[in-house]
Amino acid sequence: MKKLLQTIFSVKNEKYHKVITILGTKIKLFHPKSDDLYYCPICKKYGHFTKMGVKPRYAVKCPNCKSLERHRFLYFIYQKYFLNTQKPIKILHTAPEKCIYDLIKKNPNIEYTAIDISPERYSFCDCKKEDVTCLSFADNTFDFVISNQVMEHILDEKKYLSELTRVLKPDGVFLLNFPVYMDRSKTFQDKTITTPEARERYYGQNDHVRAYGRDVFERLKRDYGAKVIFAKDILNKEQLRKYRISNRDTDFCVVIKK
Ligand SMILES: [Zn+2]
Repeated sequence: MKKLLQTIFSVKNEKYHKVITILGTKIKLFHPKSDDLYYCPICKKYGHFTKMGVKPRYAVKCPNCKSLERHRFLYFIYQKYFLNTQKPIKILHTAPEKCIYDLIKKNPNIEYTAIDISPERYSFCDCKKEDVTCLSFADNTFDFVISNQVMEHILDEKKYLSELTRVLKPDGVFLLNFPVYMDRSKTFQDKTITTPEARERYYGQNDHVRAYGRDVFERLKRDYGAKVIFAKDILNKEQLRKYRISNRDTDFCVVIKK
C-alpha cells in the first residue's frame, strides 16, 4: 500500500500531475504514464523531457538541446522563413538562445549577428554588446530580426520596436515573442514598481517591467501591422503532442513586416 501511494504521489516522473486543492492543500492525484517520449525537431532526437519553471511545467525541456515549448514551435516558423535559405541573408538575434543559435549556424548562407546588453552571458557565441533601444547598426541592414522574451524587460517598448524595425531591410521581417498572461485582457504596467521584489510580485519575474495581457496583440496589429501566429494555427493536435508544444495560446510568434 505504501509503495502504491508513493507511486501515485511521486513527483519524480516529470509529467503532468493532476492537482486538486482541499482546504488550501494542493494534492497531486495522479500522473499519466511516465514513459512518454517526445520528439525535438530542433536536435532531431526523441527523449524524456524534463520539467522547467518556478511553477514547474512538466516534461517540457529537451534533455539534449535544452529547447522549451516555444523554441520547438519557433523552429517551424523559422523553417518557413529562413532556415533552409539558399541565398545569402543577414539575421540579427537578440538575447540569443543556444538551441536557436545552433540551428541557424548550420546554414552557411546566413550571416548571423547576436547582441545583448550583457554579452558575457552568452559564451557559446560571439555576442556583441548592444542596447536594443539604441542600436549601432545602419538602417536597412538585416533580412530578419529575431527577438524572444526581450520586450517584457524593456522600459521603452516603442523604441525597442522602432529600433529593431529600423535596422531591417525594406522587405525584412521582425519575428518576436514575449510572455503574455492570456487570462488578462489588459497589459499592466506601473512606473512606480521598480524594485525586484515588487516586479516579481506584479509582473511575475524580478526583471520584467510589465505584465502583458491579450490587448498587446491588437496594439501590435494596429500600430505595426503585425500578424500573430499561434502554435495551433500551424501544427495539428498530433504534432503538438509529439513535439510537446502547448495547445494553449501561450506559444505564438508575432510577425512584423517592414
Ligand atoms: Zn532538442
